[in-house]
Amino acid sequence: MTSTYQFSRSIAADAPYDLVVAGGGPAGTAAAVCAARLGLKVLLAEATGCLGGMGTSGLVASFGPVSDGERMLVGGFMKELLETMWRQKAFAPQVTRDYLERQLNRWVPFSPEHLKRILDAFTVEAGVEVRFFTRVVEAEVDGRRLNGVVLSNVEGLRFVPARLSSTPRAMRRWPPSRARNARWCCATRKPSRRARSVPCWPAWTGTTPPTKARAWTR
Ligand SMILES: Cc1cc2nc3c(=O)[nH]c(=O)nc-3n(C[C@H](O)[C@H](O)[C@H](O)COP(=O)(O)OP(=O)(O)OC[C@H]3O[C@@H](n4cnc5c(N)ncnc54)[C@H](O)[C@@H]3O)c2cc1C
Repeated sequence: MTSTYQFSRSIAADAPYDLVVAGGGPAGTAAAVCAARLGLKVLLAEATGCLGGMGTSGLVASFGPVSDGERMLVGGFMKELLETMWRQKAFAPQVTRDYLERQLNRWVPFSPEHLKRILDAFTVEAGVEVRFFTRVVEAEVDGRRLNGVVLSNVEGLRFVPARLSSTPRAMRRWPPSRARNARWCCATRKPSRRARSVPCWPAWTGTTPPTKARAWTR
């Protein structure tokens, strides 16, 4: 037989943040960095000891293809990240500029340790406060409005008031004038007709695309 146990207790409350982001994977880190660059006071709570999520602690160390065979498809934060990784030699040796910018259906293998350090640097430069080994365990919701979250880490439980949740829709509403000018993360362009006509090659790191796609690879 299952039973329930209900408890209530008082916990410490932090000073409010404009935005609390739950999880420092690619999505959460991009959201936190972009929001902090817009001037928001941002707290990023990450359950593990590093940023990057599946790309670092998950060891899924290859970005999906970023080119449609003619041009690079990503912009904004993702493009900035790729350029930084390129400058810091974070990619596998086979990744050339041409591979990155023009080759069709090429996955982009990278060093997870480099990605961790680059994302750390991005958050520090943007002024994001990051708490590692910190899990969001509860959200304080009033109707459709989020008032804050409860964090759990080695210090115990803490309530963190926040004016915004980490959803991009909420971020777009505030502050409107700045948000309009923001370069939102991972802007993608419509693939060219040539790329759309090629079935996506589920390539693993470093493998060669099938004949049809290879014929189109520059
Ligand atoms: C098996 C697999 C293989 C994949 N292969 C590829 C690939 O080869 N190339 C590619 O480009 N994409 C790949 N993907 C997709 C890619 O990993 C995801 O699209 C990407 O990681 C999503 O980013 P995210 O930030 O949303 O989530 P995640 O990367 O999952 O990050 C979530 C983060 O939030 C943290 N977290 C979770 N819950 C909490 C909480 N309550 N409080 C605080 N922190 C929390 C986690 O620790 C983690 O760091 C793969 C996915 C899977 C599952």
